[in-house]
Amino acid sequence: MTDPLSFLHGQIAEWQREGAWQPLRVLQSECAAESRFDGVQVVNLASNNYLGLTTHPQLRQAAIDAIRKFGAGSGAVRTISGTMSLHMELEERIAAFKNVEACVVFQSGFAANAGTVSAILGPEDHIVSDELNHASIIDGCRLSRAAIHRFPHKDVAAAGRILAELAGAGGRKLLISDGVFSMDGDIAPLPGLVEVAEAHGAIMMVDDAHASGVLGRNGRGTVDRFGLHGRVHIQVGTLSKAIGVLGGYVCGSRDLIEFLYRRARPFLFSTSHPPAVAAACLAAFDVLEREPERIEALWANTRYFKQGLVDAGFDTGHSETPITPVMVGEARLAHELSRALFEDGVLATGIGFPTVAKGQARVRTIVAATHTREQLDRALEAFRKAGKRLGILAA
Ligand code: PMP
Repeated sequence: MTDPLSFLHGQIAEWQREGAWQPLRVLQSECAAESRFDGVQVVNLASNNYLGLTTHPQLRQAAIDAIRKFGAGSGAVRTISGTMSLHMELEERIAAFKNVEACVVFQSGFAANAGTVSAILGPEDHIVSDELNHASIIDGCRLSRAAIHRFPHKDVAAAGRILAELAGAGGRKLLISDGVFSMDGDIAPLPGLVEVAEAHGAIMMVDDAHASGVLGRNGRGTVDRFGLHGRVHIQVGTLSKAIGVLGGYVCGSRDLIEFLYRRARPFLFSTSHPPAVAAACLAAFDVLEREPERIEALWANTRYFKQGLVDAGFDTGHSETPITPVMVGEARLAHELSRALFEDGVLATGIGFPTVAKGQARVRTIVAATHTREQLDRALEAFRKAGKRLGILAA
């Protein structure tokens, strides 16, 4: 009998032939500015640990204390018996931080996006979505069964035209964008999007996964950065990136949160965070408010590293944040560059189709507040050497 899963082997072989195959890198130490992957010590330019909070002493201690006091797990989904006092405290803390009425925490940012969009919209509704929005938004849109209208990346006028065309159509309208785009590091034109959403009575939703802890006062995100408080109905953020732990959250009106408590499927059907996760996240918000110098260091490192790449002659696309892509074109070349960097003590991931469009492959770098100048210089030197060797830079 033939194996009904044999097609998987064929697909894998094809990826290997195309050079689009990367083994999973295994982290054998803490996630830090410099870490050990696959037995090699490397400068880590591949994590979302923007502020170095994964190893912050206060977060570690909070997690340990919570395990001692509350155990290792929550025992149930939130709506059955898995809502612990720490979960409620975290939601109240985030709502106050973001200056909104209420907040719900999901198991991940992915669950927050997918669970929210699919809960609030149905088949009779319309979604106007930036073409480069994150996969979790796309999946949420598909699960909602609403009509999906994609607009060209950051094109406010195009989003407005689509909403105008939908004026006569029935159903609700949602305008949705990433706050910071995860593969390009550019920032959404949020003021313009909010204006067109208001002009057409659409719900405005922003996914601040990569803006949380990075943009706005003390890392409050894009709404704060652009002074749009009260004008974005749904703000998503993650606890898995700058916050350094795990999870996603949705901020908005009390009605929105009460509705999601009862209709968002990941909230209803998947077990809540262990107490250590909620406690460490709570500690992270203390750190955000008490140690703003971390965010300053992140931006200083960002400016330094980006300038170094540009001075070397690399194309860094449209990045405006600590996410800086090094554009190379073909996926094979992106993976070759990533491998060469690794051999020279730098971890930066090659990214090709289908994560980005064909011909737009890149090596993505993310600096952290905790990188030293010496580490960044070492990484820049590795980029220069590999770039010349692979013909990306003139020799
Ligand atoms: N939104 C964006 C823009 C992201 O980049 C990510 C993480 N890749 C997510 C949502 C999902 O967040 P999480 O890792 O917490 O599930």
